[in-house]
Amino acid sequence: MHRHLIDDATFTTAQNLLAERGSDKAACRSNSYDYLLTRLLVCRLCGKRYVGASAHGRYARYEYYVCHSRQKYGTTGCTADRLPARELEEAVIDAIGSVFSDLDFVERAFTTAAERTQEVSGQSQEELNQVEAELKKTESAIDRYLAAFEDGSMSSAQCGPRLEQLSGRLRQLQSRRDEIADLDRQQANEPDPERIASLRFDLSLALSQGEAPTVKTVLRELVDSIDVHDHRLVRPRFRIPGAVRTHSSLAVPTGFEPVSPP
Ligand SMILES: [Zn+2]
Repeated sequence: MHRHLIDDATFTTAQNLLAERGSDKAACRSNSYDYLLTRLLVCRLCGKRYVGASAHGRYARYEYYVCHSRQKYGTTGCTADRLPARELEEAVIDAIGSVFSDLDFVERAFTTAAERTQEVSGQSQEELNQVEAELKKTESAIDRYLAAFEDGSMSSAQCGPRLEQLSGRLRQLQSRRDEIADLDRQQANEPDPERIASLRFDLSLALSQGEAPTVKTVLRELVDSIDVHDHRLVRPRFRIPGAVRTHSSLAVPTGFEPVSPP
C-alpha cells in the first residue's frame, strides 16, 4: 500500500481492516487441526505413511493418525494402531526436547554415524565397479536383442519378454548405482551445536505461539522419520544438524492407548 496516496485516517482504517481480516483467517485456520507429524510417521507393519484423520464422536471430535493402508482398506489393509494426534505429537516433541538438549547424545550419535559412513565408502567403491560392469553387459544384451529384432532374425514374441526382463534389470542397476554415488557424497561434518540450539529455540518459540507451519518446518529439520511400531512404541530417527543425513533413533514410550473412533 502506498502510504502517500491516501490520508492518514484512511490508512489507519485500512490497516485495521487488514489486521482484522488476518485474524479472522487465523481463527478460521485454528478450527481445522494441524497434523504436525504428517509425512514423518511410517508404519512398521506395512511400510506406508501414517495420515491425519478425524472423526466426530457424540460429544467431541477425535483427531488421530492412521496408517494409510488402514485408512484406505480398513483392517484388511493393515492392522496398525490408530494413534491419538495430540498425545503422539506431545510425546515426539518431548523426545526432541530431551535428545537435543543432551549434547553427549548428539556427539555419540555423530561418532557412530561417521564410523559407519567410512566403512560404507570403502565397500561402496568395490560394489560400484561391479554394478557398472553389469550395467555395461545388460546394455549390450539389450542392443543385441534389438538388433536381432530389427534384422528380422527374432520375432517380437521371442525378444519381447527377454527385453522386458533386461530393461527391468537395467533400471535396478541404475538406481543402485545412484544410491551408491549418493552414499559417497555423504560427507560427515561436525555436528553443529549452535544450529541445534537455535532450532530448539525456534521449536519452542513456534510451539508457544502456536505456529503450526513453523513447528512443521523445524520438526522436519530435526526428525528424519518416525517408525510407528504400535501404540506403545514409536521410534523417531533424528537428524543431527551439521552432520549431513546423520541420524540416530530413540524409542519413545508413549503411555497412551490406541484410539477407536466411532
Ligand atoms: Zn500399515
